[in-house]
Amino acid sequence: MATMSGIARPVSVEGVLDVLDEDPATQVLAGGTDFMVEVNYGHRKPQSIVALSRVAGMRTWQVVEDHLVIGAGVTYSQVMKEQLADLLPGLAQAARTVGSPQIRNAGTIGGNLGTASPAGDSLPILLALDALVNIRSKHSSRSLRVDEYVIGPKKHALQPGEIIVSVRIPLSDTSQEFLKVGTRNAMVISVAGLALVVDWKSGRVGCGLGSVGPTPIRASEAEAWLAGVIDWENRRIPDRDGYGQEFGRLVARAASPIDDHRSSAAYRSYALSVCGKRAYERIRRQQRQVLPGIVNGE
Ligand SMILES: Cc1cc2nc3c(=O)[nH]c(=O)nc-3n(C[C@H](O)[C@H](O)[C@H](O)COP(=O)(O)OP(=O)(O)OC[C@H]3O[C@@H](n4cnc5c(N)ncnc54)[C@H](O)[C@@H]3O)c2cc1C
Repeated sequence: MATMSGIARPVSVEGVLDVLDEDPATQVLAGGTDFMVEVNYGHRKPQSIVALSRVAGMRTWQVVEDHLVIGAGVTYSQVMKEQLADLLPGLAQAARTVGSPQIRNAGTIGGNLGTASPAGDSLPILLALDALVNIRSKHSSRSLRVDEYVIGPKKHALQPGEIIVSVRIPLSDTSQEFLKVGTRNAMVISVAGLALVVDWKSGRVGCGLGSVGPTPIRASEAEAWLAGVIDWENRRIPDRDGYGQEFGRLVARAASPIDDHRSSAAYRSYALSVCGKRAYERIRRQQRQVLPGIVNGE
């Protein structure tokens, strides 16, 4: 039986990258809410671990020019706090649906990306926001869009020695919504999830879907249709019969759901069309989200 050689607890990103450079098989531990479940079930048998919990620089967020940079170690509870929640209301909505308070205190955005589950609740909204995943190794750095980063069910594009250091999100004047369907109201893995972002500054619509395909999916046809019907000049989403329904229909068309222990494919498609219609109506009523003047936080 393999024995574990140890747990490194560096205090800087460079320290983490040094450990991984020396031994790329070392496994990265953030909040442990996925990692430790796998260890407990015997699906993961790490020989060495590098923990991110002491890397203070990964647990904060800041505004850098016209972007928001969120450290990979930022927890759901942090995302739900006022300043960040004001800037990214859709991400805060997603964070509120994750697990329990204990899970939200420990679980991180970087860990959600690290697991790369199609049911990861932060992924549809990060996709809709055009977020970039900032990746580093000791000798290189690169950034990938969420749909480049997640390459299959629980599969991502990280190479040995690489970690996610942060996500970078364009700071704009947006309306955002996140909806999740599950078999109960709390502590539930999503059966279907949808994030919708209307960017009033750039005239862009983003729509990301979760749990309805092998990876988070972008509903491109629905995005283009909505961008075409919005009155951008007057910041209005039309209040016309059938428009919300049409958006929901196009959203459901983008999905490729499967039958599994959580739901049938047919129910997932139906739930998604309802989420699409509701997201349309909610964003129409919001009309616009005023950008607050906040600069950084923990
Ligand atoms: C009871 C319970 C309820 C849950 N409910 C939900 C839910 O509603 N929605 C949801 O989306 N998830 C849910 N989860 C799953 C989990 O909480 C999230 O996926 C969480 O974001 C994982 O973050 P973590 O910091 O705990 O990651 P960890 O468990 O520490 O790590 C997860 C994976 O990511 C890797 N990793 C972590 N950080 C990095 C990094 N910076 N760079 C590269 N790789 C990294 C790890 O090596 C590991 O493979 C739940 C889990 C539990 C136990």
